Amino acid sequence: MLTAENLTKTYRRNVDVVKVLNGVSFTVRDGEFVSIVGASGSGKSTLLHLLGTLDSPDSGVISLDGKRVDNLPKRDQDMIRNRTFGYVFQFYHLLPELSAYDNILMPAYISNSLLGWWKTRKEWRKRADELIERVGLSHRKKHKPRELSGGEMQRTAIARALLQRPRVLLADEPTGNLDAEKGNEILGLLHDLNRTDGVTIVMVTHNLEMAGTTDRVVRLSGGRVVEEKGPAFRPRLMPAAV
Ligand code: ADP
Ligand code: MG
Repeated sequence: MLTAENLTKTYRRNVDVVKVLNGVSFTVRDGEFVSIVGASGSGKSTLLHLLGTLDSPDSGVISLDGKRVDNLPKRDQDMIRNRTFGYVFQFYHLLPELSAYDNILMPAYISNSLLGWWKTRKEWRKRADELIERVGLSHRKKHKPRELSGGEMQRTAIARALLQRPRVLLADEPTGNLDAEKGNEILGLLHDLNRTDGVTIVMVTHNLEMAGTTDRVVRLSGGRVVEEKGPAFRPRLMPAAV
């Protein structure tokens, strides 16, 4: 579904030149849960940003369903991004003044005109209700981020990322700020979304144990993919009863 071929990316700040990616090729198949591992600074976040069209490679090609997307005009990229990707970050990036519920609805507030929102608000709210339930936070709807635990903030961020029914969830160290127990709960939620709801997931993590539970593990080092493992022998749990 999503392919990257021979990506290169160099950051320049004044005289500092950091060659981060030096010919990375990477494929994500429909329905897969892939993880990207590598040392700190190995370019994991950079690769995730390029895959999600948040930034452009210096060279190389990124395609979605066989159609090149990295060289499209910004407007087209924005449209594809909204329809295709949901993003989850280590530090949640929730808006502090908004309730969990309004944080989840934020993408709809942004992507609609006032009139558009007025016309579609019932569907959006229904979707947000569905999601807040799905991530287990129905009892925290009105809470502000500061009134939520780390795990609850990440659940809120995951629901927000899913609001527009993205095909691919891109998660950058989603458990990196959580203790082991809460981190495992979030990993479990991601597995469940992948298995039960068919969400394709690309997760960056430095936790090899967590990476080992996903379908495939891709390791970055020296600006390249140095190892690819999988499909891993993960215990396939039965899908949750609907
Ligand atoms: P990882 O997520 O694997 O830790 P990153 O992709 O965030 O690695 O960063 C790779 C390297 O690129 C790091 O050395 C980082 O300092 C550098 N880097 C990342 N973003 C920028 C930027 N916007 N400007 C300059 N250097 C950057
Ligand atoms: Mg990173």
